[in-house]
Amino acid sequence: MTFNQLGVKKEFIQGLKELGINTPSEIQKQAIPILLNNKTDFIGLAQTGTGKTAAFGLPLLHQIDAHQPLVQVLILSPTRELVQQIKKQLFKFTKYVDDKIFIEAVFGGEKIDKQINNLRRPTHIIVATPGRLIDLIERKSVNLRSIETIVLDEADEMLSMGFKKELNTILDYTSGSRKTWLFSATFPEEIRNIVKTYMTGDIARVEINKDTQVNENITHQYKITPLANKLDHLINILADRDAERGIIFSRTKKGVQKLMLELQEEGFSVGALEGDMQQKERDKVMRAFKNEKIQYLVSTDVSARGIDVRNLGFVIHHQLPEKMEYYTHRSGRTARAGNTGFSIALVLHSEMQQVYDIEKRLSIKFEEI
Ligand code: AMP
Repeated sequence: MTFNQLGVKKEFIQGLKELGINTPSEIQKQAIPILLNNKTDFIGLAQTGTGKTAAFGLPLLHQIDAHQPLVQVLILSPTRELVQQIKKQLFKFTKYVDDKIFIEAVFGGEKIDKQINNLRRPTHIIVATPGRLIDLIERKSVNLRSIETIVLDEADEMLSMGFKKELNTILDYTSGSRKTWLFSATFPEEIRNIVKTYMTGDIARVEINKDTQVNENITHQYKITPLANKLDHLINILADRDAERGIIFSRTKKGVQKLMLELQEEGFSVGALEGDMQQKERDKVMRAFKNEKIQYLVSTDVSARGIDVRNLGFVIHHQLPEKMEYYTHRSGRTARAGNTGFSIALVLHSEMQQVYDIEKRLSIKFEEI
């Protein structure tokens, strides 16, 4: 199966090729033909890393009338980093398109005046975090009346981040004949409510990887350690892995900053990313990490979902996540694009039950190191 056979236009295929995207992934195979038709609302149950951005992004780009200076598509995504990542991907897909498609990313943390100015230019697609979009709607800087399709990306995550009210407001603003494409890793009651309230007709549905949510290319390990020795073990693991790059997840923002300083003191090349940091600072760290200017990222779960950094050899759980599903999200930062990787947890003796629970729930096996 090729992108051409799925109905994707040549100019987009050329852009995809440059990104190393040659063969459609499972979600792309199933979703693209349906979405290119754009006749129905759509539910896609898929994790990040499955290629879902292209699965909805390519059909969206096909439907844009570049001669109309109107916002035709709205994509909502939970975090600032994901919003920027989606915008960047779409932008790259359009590299060889004759009629330029204008895509704007709006998200909290960046100066709103700058975004207001940007939105005065012709804009076809807005990618936004829900909170900032509401701000812009209230300031009358965006007009959603011309929206033809709205994409809710990582819908479950937007809800668990407390964006329910914002989502309802936005969906109310854009009601009418618009199509709704909803993507979610899970399908809890709250998502069902959104579907019931805002989606209509025969809703097409595609589900990917239902049973194998954890990537099989990941080796799972744990190290039992008293609290006082965690740092030493962490340092040993990093030293053993030499030039490999990875993310170290910590539960708290304070913990992230502390751990970063401790590792820097040991001479490691490391940056920190957590939600209390200024947006500028977050962008800078993310860029440095992606450009391989820093070898390790210490982070809270803000970067557990969806963040796509190439060639990460491992993730380390300085503490196991509170929510089970975050184990999947965190470990999914490694072993991407067919590579292998390690997910290593530092656990206290008293936390072993959590390890067994994860094994059982996710049908994986841990090795002790
Ligand atoms: P996503 O799930 O959309 O976040 O995509 C994850 C990563 O996979 C991104 O770096 C994409 O560029 C890449 N990707 C998407 N589709 C494909 C494909 N069909 N083949 C290879 N890589 C892909």
